Amino acid sequence: MNKIEHIGIAVKDLNASNTVYEKLLGVAHYKIEDVASEGVKTSFFRIGESKIELLQATTPESPIAKFIAKRGEGVHHVAFAVEDIEAEIKRLKNEGFEMIHHSPKQGADGKLIAFLHPKSSGGVLVELCQDMDNKE
Ligand code: ZN
Repeated sequence: MNKIEHIGIAVKDLNASNTVYEKLLGVAHYKIEDVASEGVKTSFFRIGESKIELLQATTPESPIAKFIAKRGEGVHHVAFAVEDIEAEIKRLKNEGFEMIHHSPKQGADGKLIAFLHPKSSGGVLVELCQDMDNKE
């Protein structure tokens, strides 16, 4: 794995949280994206090499809606940049990690993504991200 690509933060109100994070980070978000397949609306902030992703649920069945109902707003996942997501999934499965996604799927921000189950990674939801155009 190369670096922390982003940290995902579950929020109730994306517009209100965008204002808070703009003040906190001193930069404006650079994009807002609807990921209908996941039932989320996301915004992204760039800070140096890494990003912050804010996630708001768009449906009651969204994983973010369930997360907030259970734990409230807060850090939802840590995403690592990888060069070859298929190889990384295979490597992690061989190491005994449980994947939520056994093959990569299309995520936000032009990435191929796959999530690991938090029960095999110390309670932390881990996301793997590979650039689809292979440039940062
Ligand atoms: Zn993410």
